[in-house]
Amino acid sequence: MLLPVALPSPVMPVSDPDLARAGVELRLKRDDLIHPVVPGNKWRKLTPNLRAATGAGHTRLLTFGGAYSHHIHAVAAAAAAAGLASVGVIRGEELARAPRNWSLAEAEGNGMRLAFVDRATYRETLRTLATPATRRDLERRFGRCYVLPEGGSNALAARGSARTAAELADLGAHDVVCCPVGTGGTLAGIAAALPPGARALGVAVLKGAAGYLEEEVGRLHREGWDRTFDNWHIAHTHHGGGYAKLPAALTAFATAFEARHGIPIERRYVAKMLHCVHDLATGGALPRGTRVTAVITGPPPQARPRPPAAAPR
Ligand SMILES: *Cc1c(COP(=O)(O)O)cnc(C)c1O
Repeated sequence: MLLPVALPSPVMPVSDPDLARAGVELRLKRDDLIHPVVPGNKWRKLTPNLRAATGAGHTRLLTFGGAYSHHIHAVAAAAAAAGLASVGVIRGEELARAPRNWSLAEAEGNGMRLAFVDRATYRETLRTLATPATRRDLERRFGRCYVLPEGGSNALAARGSARTAAELADLGAHDVVCCPVGTGGTLAGIAAALPPGARALGVAVLKGAAGYLEEEVGRLHREGWDRTFDNWHIAHTHHGGGYAKLPAALTAFATAFEARHGIPIERRYVAKMLHCVHDLATGGALPRGTRVTAVITGPPPQARPRPPAAAPR
């Protein structure tokens, strides 16, 4: 249905003089190469959900996101590739009349029906998503559908993400596996699949999410594994001011990393994670002898093959 291009995803060593001086080894787990149109952690998270949806006879996916959500974009592409209909409930009523940004234009180009709702309704719908009343409302409006939460992080998604860590057969006590954190599904999966001694480090890309994200990871662990784990941690120091913000220092870091190592770096998530790893290592916060495996959770949007964009309306 969504055949992978490369599994296990390749692991690529990186030689960086700053890290070498700090005694830290860095390698990249290239999940960005898994699939051309449903890349990275979105493929890991969506594949088990697509299987569950079609297994239960669903023909339509419905999910939630902001105007620049990678998740919305990926669900539209995955649904199109799997022959399913899709609905994206988008935060922000005013966007209905605005020209589409590239992400929403591509989602529409993949056949996704976009429904723009005001922020209060959006929040309330997500808050009550598990209730029969909200499900009935959604189905009345959009038809019978398989509902994915905002960001796509449910127990199946976290279990799909666990494969990333399970593919790393050589982990031990000096290993840290690092990933960006949007909703925490990817981090939850990685932490759950680590062998004893190895640790997971998530780098939050949202501002003001301390506490909330930790709760989400704990919830996903209970739902997916019936237990909690204490081998992970979230750094809240490198969101750069928020999801939509890309400070000059971050852009400069990402550009230099691309030039030095020859791989394209997605800015909203991956650059923030790599920047955090770099600062932790050069600041002496990682013990000498640490090996960091940074999961490249997706490519930059412009590196993907793009379907023709739908005309703004
Ligand atoms: C969506 C996304 C994330 C966030 O993953 P979560 O499971 O929501 O924490 C990280 N990296 C990239 C490139 C993404 O597109």
